[in-house]
Amino acid sequence: MLYDITRTLSPRTAVFPGDTPVSIVPTLQMRAGDACNVTAITMSAHAGTHVDAPRHYSDDGAGIDAVPLDALIGPARVVTLDVAGAITVTDLQNAIRNTRYATRDTRLLNAQFSILNFTRLLIHTRASEVSDDVWDDAFAYFDPEAAEWLGANGLRLIGTDAPSVDPAASKDLPAHKAFLKHGVIIVENLCLRGVPDGEYELIALPLKIAGNDAGPARVVLRR
Ligand SMILES: [Zn+2]
Repeated sequence: MLYDITRTLSPRTAVFPGDTPVSIVPTLQMRAGDACNVTAITMSAHAGTHVDAPRHYSDDGAGIDAVPLDALIGPARVVTLDVAGAITVTDLQNAIRNTRYATRDTRLLNAQFSILNFTRLLIHTRASEVSDDVWDDAFAYFDPEAAEWLGANGLRLIGTDAPSVDPAASKDLPAHKAFLKHGVIIVENLCLRGVPDGEYELIALPLKIAGNDAGPARVVLRR
């Protein structure tokens, strides 16, 4: 079973306020007597579902063509979080606990949290209910401490259905930077509508654009 968790790109795709909209213009058209159909695409590298490269928040960071592919393919955990505003360490611990073990022994639970048993985590929030052509900046983002906690616990990839891991108005991007510090790759603008929580194989492959700050990606989950 495959789940396509990619948002559809079109000229209606919602982008960050002020960012370049998606434009798809035919340059050859069979209807007009050309031999084939060809289009030219102009868009922000962060439009729709995409993978952020470290270059996005650091001039010295790796470009999208240098992001390790093995982090982008492999087992992943999908967890629903019904959070508005900042996702905290406690939110993550509660959600992971609910999908993992039904035990009331808090000593056991705390021991289980010392190491995550997954290295790729996709967060399913209300943002998945927002359609591709609507910009809604009231999305859940990561408290920098939560990003730090995930990175320190060995996470390699974080995916979110929100347009960013930081608030829309953030200028200093503290969650991006906390993930970067630990080498955690960020995938944004997923659509997890209809995807049950659980374990999957993730395949998230961004376009190979030399030295770029991000790459649009087709992202799928396989049961
Ligand atoms: Zn981005």
